[in-house]
Amino acid sequence: ATPTALLVGSGRGAQLGLLIKGPEVLENTRTVDTVLLDKTGTVTTGVMRMSRVIPAAGESADEVLALAGSLEHGSAHPIAKAIADAAAERGALAAVEGMTDVGGLGVVGQVDGHAVVVGRPALLQDNGIDLTDELADAMSDAQRGGETVVAVGWNGVARGLIAVADEIKPTSAQAVADLRSLGLRPVLLTGDHEAVAHAVADAVGIDEVIAGVLPADKATVVRDLQAEGRVVAMVGDGVNDAAALAQSDLGIAMGTGTDVAIEASDLTLVRGDLRGAADAIRLSRSTLRVIK
Ligand code: ADP
Ligand code: MG
Repeated sequence: ATPTALLVGSGRGAQLGLLIKGPEVLENTRTVDTVLLDKTGTVTTGVMRMSRVIPAAGESADEVLALAGSLEHGSAHPIAKAIADAAAERGALAAVEGMTDVGGLGVVGQVDGHAVVVGRPALLQDNGIDLTDELADAMSDAQRGGETVVAVGWNGVARGLIAVADEIKPTSAQAVADLRSLGLRPVLLTGDHEAVAHAVADAVGIDEVIAGVLPADKATVVRDLQAEGRVVAMVGDGVNDAAALAQSDLGIAMGTGTDVAIEASDLTLVRGDLRGAADAIRLSRSTLRVIK
């Protein structure tokens, strides 16, 4: 491929809202056959709002929200922001000591003299807190409806659940259809629960889902697919996507996402419109056709 033709391709890319790191990027794009799509912030808006608090029997919803929201105030995760905002709106934020953000799992810390944990059931378990059957059932119900649910516990006892939700971007279903029409295989990749992932995947027309993946394991998923001979594009926005974006054959960041994700990528969708992923792959194919 001659550099001139590739540069023409990247000039066209700029018109499409694609920021391409170097001319060689389009060359790698040509043979991509699998596109991993991060869920939160990529297929969905990533702007989460709290939908409800589900207290365990005998617990107060207000207290569950106050302690969870106070702790989450120190985390930048979209789930954390939704919960902290809801608590702040009710004037319920309390002082926190020693908060730890356990990436992809949740947060742990002291609030008001209580040892509080908010996040995945596995993180509560690591801190000696088991979900009751009642809470586990309520969690599954909410997840089947597409809500993201985190568990809240303190002082060794599970106290309730908090459900948050964001919206699917209006262009996501079209973007998935565009990828398919190019013969590509779209796969939803998320740290969220399988049931939530399937609800979102169904809504946008994706039938392959890899869920419950810890941030550090997203890159392993890419590597495993590559080991099967696949050429993988990954689209993501978060800190937790950076390693996978760097590992993929074509890393695509949302321009609306974190700097870490953008730096780890080959290409940025400036407007955060997922349809740009298909545009990029289409552009690389046509650019190379011109050169041949
Ligand atoms: P995604 O891959 O969808 O962007 P993450 O890997 O960031 O999701 O998070 C995966 C899961 O870890 C969340 O669905 C949630 O259960 C839990 N989690 C991560 N961070 C937090 C937090 N700050 N508060 C509560 N739960 C969290
Ligand atoms: Mg994300």
